[in-house]
Amino acid sequence: MREATRIIRSTLSPTVPGEPLHPGPVFAAPYHTPGDPSSTPYTYARSHNPTWTALEDAIGQMESGQLGTGESYCATALVFASGMAACTAVFGAVLRPGDVVVLPSNAYYTARVLLQQYFAPMGVTLRLAGAGDAQAELLQGARLLWLESPSNPGMEISDIALLSEAAHRAGALVAVDNTTPTPLGQIPLALGADFSVASDAKAMTGHSDLLVGHVAVRDPELHAKIDQWRTLTGAALGPMEAWLALRSIATLPLRLERSCENAQRIAELLATRSEVASVMYPGLLTHPGHAIAKRQMRYFGPVLSFTLRDKISADTFLTNAKLITDATSFGGITTTAERRAKWGGDAVPDGFIRLSAGCEAIEDLLEDIAQALDTIR
Ligand SMILES: *Cc1c(COP(=O)(O)O)cnc(C)c1O
Repeated sequence: MREATRIIRSTLSPTVPGEPLHPGPVFAAPYHTPGDPSSTPYTYARSHNPTWTALEDAIGQMESGQLGTGESYCATALVFASGMAACTAVFGAVLRPGDVVVLPSNAYYTARVLLQQYFAPMGVTLRLAGAGDAQAELLQGARLLWLESPSNPGMEISDIALLSEAAHRAGALVAVDNTTPTPLGQIPLALGADFSVASDAKAMTGHSDLLVGHVAVRDPELHAKIDQWRTLTGAALGPMEAWLALRSIATLPLRLERSCENAQRIAELLATRSEVASVMYPGLLTHPGHAIAKRQMRYFGPVLSFTLRDKISADTFLTNAKLITDATSFGGITTTAERRAKWGGDAVPDGFIRLSAGCEAIEDLLEDIAQALDTIR
C-alpha cells in the first residue's frame, strides 16, 4: 500500500456494523476497574486513553519502515501534551548525572534552554556543535546524540544514517527532532535513530489550532521508559486534542504534498531575486545538504528561510505581503512567515525570515511575494 493510502486508512476504526468510522473522543479520568486491573490498559487517564491509542496506532504506522539492512520493523508511538513534553520525556528517560548529550548548537531554542538551565545544573554535560561532521567528533563517551534535520530555523541538513551509526559505535542513543518534515516526509527510525521526536502542532496536524507531540521508538524497552515518564510527570494530552489530531492527520498526505510543492516554487522564485541575499531550502540544488536530503527525505518540507538586507527590508516585506500571515510556528495550511531575530535566541541576521508555505494556489503566493519584494528594491 502507498503511504498516503496507509495514513488515511490508519485513522479509521475497525469495521464493526453500526459503529462510526471515526469514534468520538473518550472523556475519562478513571475507568471501570473491578477486581484485577491488569486485564485492561485503561485504568486512569493519566496513563492511557483509547483516543490516544487510536492516534498512537496511526503515528506508529507512519514511523514504521525498513532499516538500511532491509529489515522491517514496527514502530510504536506515545503522544504528549506538546512537542516540548515529548522532548523532555526523552531527556528525562535517558539522561542521568554524569551523562553527556551531544546536540546541534542551533537545536530548537526551547529544547536547548531546557538542557542548559535544568539538565546541565543536575550534572548532565552538554556538547554543542554545528550540524554534521562536527557532531560526530564529540561522540566519545556520549549517552545521547540529539539531531534536528532540517534544523529550525537554519534549514541545515544532517546525515541521520551516518551519524546514527557513529553514535551507536560510541555507545550513544540517537534522537531526532523530526518536527519540520513529519514522519511522512522523513522516517528517522528507518535511518537508524532510536527515538523520533516531534511537535505535531506543526505540519503533522497543520491547522494552527493544536498543541501535541509524540515520541516513536522501535525498542519496547525504550517505549516502556517513555511511557513511564509520561505517567509519572503527567504530560497528558487532552482527549479532544488527540481526536482533533487524528482527524487532522488524515489530510497530511494532501497538505504536505501541496505545501512542499509550494515551498519549492517559492524558494526557486526567491533565489532569482536580487533583494534576497540567500535562500535556504533543502530542495534547492544549491543547498549544501541537498544530496543528503534527497537521500533521506521523501519531501523537503514546507519550511524555508531567506535573508533580506536588514530589519527594515524584512519588516517592509512582511507588511506588504498580503498573503503571508506574520506569525510564529510553521506547517499550517496558511502561509506564514516571521522575522526570526525579533525573538532573540537564534544566531540569525536581522533580515532573516523563516517562511512556512501553506496550501494556497501557488500563482497567488508567487505574485504576492514578487510584489512585496518590489517594494524593498
Ligand atoms: C515547535 C517545536 C518544538 C516544540 O514543540 P511544542 O509543541 O511547541 O512544544 C520542538 N522542536 C521543534 C523543531 C519545533 O519546531
